[in-house]
Amino acid sequence: MTTLSIDVKVSFGSFGLEVAHQLAAEGITVLFGPNGSGKSTLLRTIAGLERGARGRIHYGETVWQDDGDHLFVPAHKRGVGYVFQDARLFPHLTVAGNLAYAEKRSGGRPNGLELETVVKTLELQSLMARRVTGLSGGERQRVAIARTLMTRPRLLLMDEPLSALDVRRKAEILPYIEQLPGLFDVPIIYVTHALDEVARLADRMVVLSLGRKVAEGSVNDVLERIDLGPATGRFEAGVVLNVRVAGHDREYQLTRLDHHGQTITVPYADVPEGGMVRVRIRARDVALAIEKPEGLSIRNILKGTVSDIVEEPATAYAETLVDIGNARLRARITRKSAFDLGLSRGKPVFVLIKSVSFDRRMVG
Ligand code: ADP
Ligand code: MG
Repeated sequence: MTTLSIDVKVSFGSFGLEVAHQLAAEGITVLFGPNGSGKSTLLRTIAGLERGARGRIHYGETVWQDDGDHLFVPAHKRGVGYVFQDARLFPHLTVAGNLAYAEKRSGGRPNGLELETVVKTLELQSLMARRVTGLSGGERQRVAIARTLMTRPRLLLMDEPLSALDVRRKAEILPYIEQLPGLFDVPIIYVTHALDEVARLADRMVVLSLGRKVAEGSVNDVLERIDLGPATGRFEAGVVLNVRVAGHDREYQLTRLDHHGQTITVPYADVPEGGMVRVRIRARDVALAIEKPEGLSIRNILKGTVSDIVEEPATAYAETLVDIGNARLRARITRKSAFDLGLSRGKPVFVLIKSVSFDRRMVG
């Protein structure tokens, strides 16, 4: 397996990016962080598009940049593909024309990236003769992804490719992106500031804040870190859990999920019994109680223990981490509630989950 090794600095006036990181070029690595944290700058630096970047970048055995040796491999010789937020297609060409152009420009790396397979995977068959100007935003992004794949990249960089799309279009494209590393043996570095995309796509994540790496690791581990504060989102903050589909209740259209012996019930999900799925539970959808509540419409009540509380200064809130055995949930409650309930580390609590979202179907 190839390792991408980065040790770079970029400065723009008062903003400075300084990141040293090694990542496995495999599956999907999400580069996450708020607007202005330096995600695009880092991606451009990796691609060789940031000429002011200083430092070293190695991709496996290949040196892409090493200032010590005055070495800088230009972008077009690094063999990386780049997908931007806006599709940037050639407006005067058809879809087929755009793809053919990319293929001609490709290094011809023989890695199974055949036009026919790419077209089929992104379901572009019926669009091939169309001019790109008439396509919807979602269709344009599918073409942009296909076009970049046809350049036969060894590494695919995607910079907020879905941020210009509405929720429905986004949901349509996510499954295509999810499949790419497996189908085409191409690792992806995916930039986003949307946690739903992280939960859905990421095999691992790196968090940037103010030009610095502040966290890295598995999605499960990073998202439960309440010490990161706004860097992992405020209103969208939450955790992901890997759960097993334990069974379905057809009469009430419910699906039961098992998480190490605890059951979470969700609206019916079309996943076979025994299948593993990733679910996301947002901190604002979790409430806490010190006694088992009765007579509630909320069905998902788990037992847990408070493992950490971080008060957010100058806000009403306290981010609370609750251990449910084999995992932790985040709860965003008010500081006043934390005080009234006498919450502190080690205190047993009941966790009420108001809503759960399915973000990813998993194998195995
Ligand atoms: P992100 O992608 O996380 O939103 P960027 O990497 O685009 O962040 O930007 C990080 C910071 O660098 C911002 O403050 C931005 O204004 C600044 N910046 C980015 N590119 C340039 C540039 N070419 N010239 C000057 N400042 C830039
Ligand atoms: Mg950006």
